[in-house]
Amino acid sequence: MVIGSEILKGVTLDTNSNWLARKLTNLGFEVVRILVVPDSIEDISWGLRALLELSSLIVTTGGLGFTEDDITAEAIASSLGLKLDKNEEAFNMIKARYGDEAYKYVKAAFIPEKARPLPNEVGVSPGFLLEFQGRLVIALPGVPAEMREMFERYVEPLLQKVTGRVSVKASIVTGHMVEAEVDGYIRDLRRLSDVYIKTHAERPVKVTIVAYGNSAEDACNRLNEVLGEISKRLRVVHVEKTGTCK
Ligand code: AMP
Ligand code: MG
Repeated sequence: MVIGSEILKGVTLDTNSNWLARKLTNLGFEVVRILVVPDSIEDISWGLRALLELSSLIVTTGGLGFTEDDITAEAIASSLGLKLDKNEEAFNMIKARYGDEAYKYVKAAFIPEKARPLPNEVGVSPGFLLEFQGRLVIALPGVPAEMREMFERYVEPLLQKVTGRVSVKASIVTGHMVEAEVDGYIRDLRRLSDVYIKTHAERPVKVTIVAYGNSAEDACNRLNEVLGEISKRLRVVHVEKTGTCK
């Protein structure tokens, strides 16, 4: 869930959700929704409740911090019926960076009770991680550099253990100019399980394949099977696979 009125007003381009969707997909998750809500307690609470019905993992970005419109922690706490507490570990993280000035940022140390703070190595506001009724809610800052650093350092290693799945990707440049023609040749392959195929209406037509598996090897085998089948049906000019696949 992307939190920020600036996105809904067209002031800021939401790059966080694209970055996170790619990361989470690589980690083997099926991303089922990207929701953008304004900086409002009611909207964030509504969004969180809706997403908890759909998924066991919810990642939020934005609205963490010490300014008045930073209300993500409060909204998450209130919609889950939790108290918002000053978390000493979170405050120590702020103190470690800002020393005597830390008191100015104390609001950023208020997170839902039972949440585990995540250090922010780039900016002020700690993120947090909250287990709730068998689900995981992870709140990350809105500033892209902070969000990415926190995700890669603390969240990604943790989620790698959770999924037990991975996905791999191949980008194909075809020798065809008409998307409908390409679609006609490979349409039935879309029904394969654990495989996502997207044709892109460009000239020449491009095709992206995402294959899921229980291990990198499993996912790569699936990807290569589909690639082999596509190569029999289409003129394939160039294939680029994600790092792990041969
Ligand atoms: P916030 O933590 O919500 O106050 O966000 C801090 C800053 O990060 C904003 O002023 C934006 O410039 C940027 N930002 C917030 N959300 C996003 C997003 N989804 N994509 C890109 N930049 C963002
Ligand atoms: Mg904001």
